[in-house]
Amino acid sequence: MPSPKKVLLVFLPSESGVDGARSLYGEREITPFFKWFNRSLKTIIKQSPFAIPPLSLMILSSIEVAGVEQSICDMRFEEFPFNERWDLVGISVQTGMARKAFALADKLRSAKIPVVLGGAHVTLFADSCKPHADILVLGEADDLWKELLTDLTTQTLKPLYQSSGFPDLGLSRPVNKRSLIKSRYFTTNLIQTGRGCQYSCDFCNVHLLNGHNLRRRAVADVVSEVEQFQQHDRRIFFFVDDSINADPLYALELFRQLTPLKIRWFGQATTTLGQQHELLETFARSGCQALLVGIESIEARSRSAHKKNQNKAGELVRAIKNIREAGISLYGSFIYGLDGDTLDTPSAILDFISETKLDVPGINILRPIPGTQVFERLREEGRLLFDPLDVTAYRYSFGQEMLYKPKNIPLDAFIESYSTLTRQVFNIKNAVTRGIAAPRAKSAVMLFNLFYAHLYSLSRHDLQHQLEKKP
Ligand code: SF4
Repeated sequence: MPSPKKVLLVFLPSESGVDGARSLYGEREITPFFKWFNRSLKTIIKQSPFAIPPLSLMILSSIEVAGVEQSICDMRFEEFPFNERWDLVGISVQTGMARKAFALADKLRSAKIPVVLGGAHVTLFADSCKPHADILVLGEADDLWKELLTDLTTQTLKPLYQSSGFPDLGLSRPVNKRSLIKSRYFTTNLIQTGRGCQYSCDFCNVHLLNGHNLRRRAVADVVSEVEQFQQHDRRIFFFVDDSINADPLYALELFRQLTPLKIRWFGQATTTLGQQHELLETFARSGCQALLVGIESIEARSRSAHKKNQNKAGELVRAIKNIREAGISLYGSFIYGLDGDTLDTPSAILDFISETKLDVPGINILRPIPGTQVFERLREEGRLLFDPLDVTAYRYSFGQEMLYKPKNIPLDAFIESYSTLTRQVFNIKNAVTRGIAAPRAKSAVMLFNLFYAHLYSLSRHDLQHQLEKKP
């Protein structure tokens, strides 16, 4: 019998962020006290892994084809295993990590290991990926990957795999976690119930990559996946959908059926949940501990400039209070630097956080992702700070780099005001206070706030460094 074809799926680390916070410019000069503080904080962070597994690679590695063995290499934790034989290596490429992905692909190909590139960046910028790959996979790969693996066994691989539409998620596609090393992750219980988003926020690429129609998996398939996952890992579940309440009837049915399983779960939702009373109660009863909601902006001008019209300011505060009163902790994510923002925006954000008592605020800088509408607009307006033709320059970091010029605020004043804002929001006292006040998941809330105190101090350092370099 011929030996099975060995396929390795690779996930690359980003420059910085929750999976490994680091300065974009190397170690910084700090006082001995802060050295000690950072060392202690890093130890706590190391012992409480925030990393979650790469879901897309979990899905692909679960596709079974006779004569093929698949495994995952998560380069956040390990080096690429060059000492083993690989018949094919697949690399998931996000724009922020494209340079690293291309460097690895080039190295593998020079060692005669065939490389397939897929993921968001490849789907949006296929031409620039071609020189670094033997094979490209464009779009959602659920169906294409099976075809590709079958072609691998018959030595009939094609240079391009692309489908004309989106995969039908109603078909049963069981996901397993055989390729994951459990201890590395915060949890391995990642569940996706559907894809697509009906909104068109101009800074987001979800609707470009996954379409405007909500596609849902069958409730029975999701319930059975939760039952199966629970047997291998009793930790928290994370429903990774961009908005778990986007289809309220579906969500109601799903979480009613999940309630008897007594799981604890995190998810992402829109603030509309605060008005969906029956669903909110069902979420709380089914074990929901915390939700991430995208508040993005409390400035009406900014919401309309960026097509984030679904959040209405007057309803936001009440909605957030309702969710917290139902016993669910909230991570509220803001973006500062949108086109309607001014130097008064930070104090409005501070007032909003204090009124709503958000458990974990996330204060992001607008990050124009190449391929999105906002990237194109900023390019036309001459406001991008890096060469728009080199989209790989738009790396991912955690509020540590300005990629564009804000509309109403000079760059240096913006960086100064953003730094002051993050200093006021994230400190040890606030982390402890928020942890104690959180409706649920108190220690996770405290830890996240502490971690953010560390990350945003990196942000302030790196932004100052960028300002001094004046790109
Ligand atoms: S930001 Fe959220 S609501 Fe807006 S398009 Fe993206 S996924 Fe949809």
